[in-house]
Amino acid sequence: MIKENLQQVERNIENASKKAGRRQDEVTLIAVSKTKPVENVQEAYQAGIRDFGENKVQELVDKYEILPKDIRWHLIGHLQRNKVKYIVDKVYLIHSVDSIRLAQQIEEEAKKKQVDVQILIQVNVAQEDTKFGFDISEVMEAVKEISQMPHIHIQGLMTIAPFTEDAEENRIYFAKLRQLCVDINDKNIDNVTMNVLSMGMTGDYTVAIEEGATMVRVGTGIFGERKVNQNI
Ligand SMILES: *Cc1c(COP(=O)(O)O)cnc(C)c1O
Repeated sequence: MIKENLQQVERNIENASKKAGRRQDEVTLIAVSKTKPVENVQEAYQAGIRDFGENKVQELVDKYEILPKDIRWHLIGHLQRNKVKYIVDKVYLIHSVDSIRLAQQIEEEAKKKQVDVQILIQVNVAQEDTKFGFDISEVMEAVKEISQMPHIHIQGLMTIAPFTEDAEENRIYFAKLRQLCVDINDKNIDNVTMNVLSMGMTGDYTVAIEEGATMVRVGTGIFGERKVNQNI
């Protein structure tokens, strides 16, 4: 089933890319495997997927230990500062940097381990109380401050759009994040590149691609429903 789901998702990505006049290889599919067993990850791996997303540090580390080392692990969930030390040398990209204090902690641990950490700035575009992330108005200052941290490299922006039955409602948020990305890029800040726009989940990734997403994070659409109380 996972293999068929993946083929469907990849077809959807191809169609959305075409519609937007973009090349399919501009969009990276991240298979969000949170709460799912290792066997599921292996099945997606067999089908060619190398980018996987997890939202919990412990689960990411457990899977990292067991699974092939050419997997690129993406941390997509809220990261507590006391857990940074477990993952700085294991993650390919941290999507969820949502405070200066968290960035400082990442810098400190990265320095200790002598690694460079690639990150995205999480933006709460829709200003939902329940979501982490910087307000749009705070992002430019945060990027400037974090750009000074030598072991951290900002690669772009990430957002989690509101839950909705109608993906079209999220188009405006994706467009806003894209515009913010362009504005930051125009400032040419040292140690900052804006190559990555991580936006779009199972319900809305085709709209996100039309609005410029370079990474989409798809869980349910590949692995099926999660148990409700394990959603976050
Ligand atoms: C769980 C999760 C996803 C995937 O959600 P689906 O709706 O199952 O595709 C994407 N991004 C983040 C940050 C998540 O926590």
